[in-house]
Amino acid sequence: MGIAKKRSDWEHLAASLTINGRAFINGSYVEAAGGDSFDCISPIDGRVLAKVVSCGPEDADRAVAAARESFESGSWSRLAPVKRKQVMLRFAELLETHADELALLETLDMGKPVSHARSVDLPAAARAIRWSGEAIDKLYGELAPTAHNEIGMITREPIGVVAAIVPWNFPLLMACWKLGPALAAGNSVVLKPSEKSPLTAIRMAALAKEAGIPDGVLNVLPGFGHLVGEALALHMDVDTLVFTGSTRVARQLMIYAGRSNMKRVWLEAGGKSPNIVFADAPDLGLAARAAAEAIAFNQGEVCTAGSRLLVESPIRDQFIAQVRAELAKWQPGHPLEPETRCGALVDRQQLQTVLGYIAAGSEEGATLVQGGNQVLQSTGGVYVEPTLFDGVHNQMKIAREEIFGPVLSVIEFDGMEQAIAIANDSIYGLAAGVWTADLSKAHRMAKALRCGSVWVNQYDGGDMTAPFGGFKQSGNGRDKSLHAFDKYTEIKATWIAI
Ligand code: NAD
Repeated sequence: MGIAKKRSDWEHLAASLTINGRAFINGSYVEAAGGDSFDCISPIDGRVLAKVVSCGPEDADRAVAAARESFESGSWSRLAPVKRKQVMLRFAELLETHADELALLETLDMGKPVSHARSVDLPAAARAIRWSGEAIDKLYGELAPTAHNEIGMITREPIGVVAAIVPWNFPLLMACWKLGPALAAGNSVVLKPSEKSPLTAIRMAALAKEAGIPDGVLNVLPGFGHLVGEALALHMDVDTLVFTGSTRVARQLMIYAGRSNMKRVWLEAGGKSPNIVFADAPDLGLAARAAAEAIAFNQGEVCTAGSRLLVESPIRDQFIAQVRAELAKWQPGHPLEPETRCGALVDRQQLQTVLGYIAAGSEEGATLVQGGNQVLQSTGGVYVEPTLFDGVHNQMKIAREEIFGPVLSVIEFDGMEQAIAIANDSIYGLAAGVWTADLSKAHRMAKALRCGSVWVNQYDGGDMTAPFGGFKQSGNGRDKSLHAFDKYTEIKATWIAI
């Protein structure tokens, strides 16, 4: 099916969907061992979309056992890389063939505009699978510079059983950033999607099987973090735990690894990224557009959201006026309307969190200059206006904590040194934007900023060729690019006397 364009097309497709809420273990859809389930509610209108099984420790045991068995069998782990590549490419193709259905499921489940799910999430998810598949038969080992009578081989091996725990903001895409290199490298995976957005991961499992991923190599366990998530993190037979989510849970996972089998733990966690606009920015109009998009795209539910807007004093008033005009173009609307740029927040709990931060901003003395309200209540869904606070200083709660909603804080600064000090004064270190026409200032800023990605005269650039991840409490390790394979392979040295 081609790209559905009108709201009625999407509604028609939605009416024809059969939504699957079961776990996927060893190549089959199954109920949870304990028979538990929960309602999967759409934030668009409060409708129950499906009953989804709530997995627990027994399901984690079943899935890990299936993953282990498939790994040891060699059906995937010992397949020639070129053969794994072919399956991965087929998997990517199937994601593309089913892009309308998957984009719609994503939107119904977590509220983002379907036009973005279809044009951003789905192509990027397929690209992640394809890129990793294409890379895997081009990764060579090394030979050590040994003495004449020895050979030292340095090779990479798949690690074994990977547990992947992912969040709800880009559910399919975050899963594919993990699955791409994990599967391409020959591991077996147990994927736990967020309880707030499990539907695309569940659907994707069947497509992986159709592509030729052997039974047991990809398992999907829907359910809650404190139940099945914790069981996977504490599991004695999981070799590697890869995670995208909050810093709070990331910390907990390191403890679980220490308490169990010292499994490797790779964390992509939260952010509070500064977007720094100098008075000599080459195009303030472009910077204002990007600043609005950096906080309103995906309803601000983005780890790299440019939530601290640092503006140099001489341009402050002019620039804030430009940002206000741009932000006004992001009024929330129905996520199935093709023109909608800002959809629903993921659920009522997230709404309360965001409204709580908006109240805290006002209480701490920041000036609310735009937005701040829940809207579209009559839909039964959860929508909040993009919100702008001026007069924020970096010690305020809204400047220190990740809000994960469309709430932008303007912090004024004078000169490069102050910009660096404010930008780096955060427990997070995920990303930063810098706007300046001065090349040497751009480079000096890029070197000084303590974060994993720096964007100059743009915000949120990048593709599969660039690694993505954080400094400080934004996590460790990198997704995307060849660096991602570090998470999914062990390095072995083999020393041979000849
Ligand atoms: P979260 O930490 O609440 O949940 C993430 C996942 O962890 C979910 O699947 C959840 O069920 C699971 N979980 C929760 N408690 C657990 C426990 N005790 N044991 C095991 N698993 C547990 O995060 P979220 O609210 O789903 O997502 C938002 C967060 O994700 C934000 O902090 C955001 O910055 C972060 N994020 C980071 C990146 C990145 O690449 N750095 C990308 C996207 C999102």
